[in-house]
Amino acid sequence: MKNIPLFIPDIQDSDIAAVQDVLRSGMLVQGKYVEQLEAAFCEITGAAHAVAVSNGTATLHLMLHVLGIGKGDEVIVPAFSYVATANAVELVGATPVFVDVDTRNWNINTAAIEAKITSKTKAIMPVHEFGLSADLDPIRDLCVKYKLHLLEDAACAVGSTYKEVKTGGNSFAASFSLHPRKAITSGEGGIIVTSDAALAAQLRVYRNHGISYVNGEMDFVAAGFNYRMTDFQAALVLNQTHRLHSQIAHKRKLAALYLNQLKDLNIIMPSDMEYAEHTWQTFHVLLPEGVNRAAVIAALKEKGIGASYGAQCIPDTRFYKEKYGYDAAALFPAAYAGFHRGLALPMYPLLAEEDAKYVAENLKQIIEEIQ
Ligand SMILES: *Cc1c(COP(=O)(O)O)cnc(C)c1O
Repeated sequence: MKNIPLFIPDIQDSDIAAVQDVLRSGMLVQGKYVEQLEAAFCEITGAAHAVAVSNGTATLHLMLHVLGIGKGDEVIVPAFSYVATANAVELVGATPVFVDVDTRNWNINTAAIEAKITSKTKAIMPVHEFGLSADLDPIRDLCVKYKLHLLEDAACAVGSTYKEVKTGGNSFAASFSLHPRKAITSGEGGIIVTSDAALAAQLRVYRNHGISYVNGEMDFVAAGFNYRMTDFQAALVLNQTHRLHSQIAHKRKLAALYLNQLKDLNIIMPSDMEYAEHTWQTFHVLLPEGVNRAAVIAALKEKGIGASYGAQCIPDTRFYKEKYGYDAAALFPAAYAGFHRGLALPMYPLLAEEDAKYVAENLKQIIEEIQ
């Protein structure tokens, strides 16, 4: 029987060799490979500065913290994302204010943001969900109008573009995750890119115990975190950055195949937007109402195919429901639908086109039988 998992990272012998070299060198933490990785991310994104840290959640927490966002403040986030987006806001003591998403692209519904801005709002944090950039121009306009920070959770979107500008290339702050479920991975890891030199300097101080140099002498100038990345993690992902664009090209072929094979089904399919090209970190469809997703997942599993839901309706998870008392189905219908009827299909660089075809054929048959 076929065995097609939902996702597997593409780790090659040259990646492993790069890690071994670092392990043998004895220099294990935040050294020259972290610096090289930061330089590589400046190149990939076009950003002026890049700061590598220990994971994607740490990128979000660190940027909110150094910007002084905390108790009494509000940060606008999409209702549909990985929970880490909102958790980072909770971790600094601020309140995440949720805005529903658009089922065509699963990104924040930009038309619904302004109504959620209050005198307490400090930042808008769009997510480039599943590897497709959110529509940034209207969000940028709101940030200028209300003097807010635009902080992009680009965890899934390395290599994507918005109106031909690379994701992170023209950003006050955008952050990426290097978790194994993302396009390229260091195991655990994250990177913040920024156009702002002062912000980059603060991020560097706070990721490393508050260490800074005053008149050439090292001192501890802040109560910082230890959010450093190891050098062997940096070497692991640095080697993968060379394959990033060929991997995205392959995933675009797979996505085209899925879009073509599944087009006659009564499901909502993802697509590129006129302003952004998808990088297909996840291929996520919305099943029709009345189709039992668990049954679809189980039937796919019978055929050796891994599938899962794609992201959470965060206000519908227990912590947020209990803390804020949301009726998520009424308040965030699109996010709620995505959480309960969304289906992520296998999508990764090592997935062969013929296996994607097998996935599509089986999904088609299963949905036709179930309906
Ligand atoms: C993966 C992810 C994160 C968290 O990244 P970690 O490296 O797992 O901490 C945050 N936001 C989004 C949108 C993600 O997909």
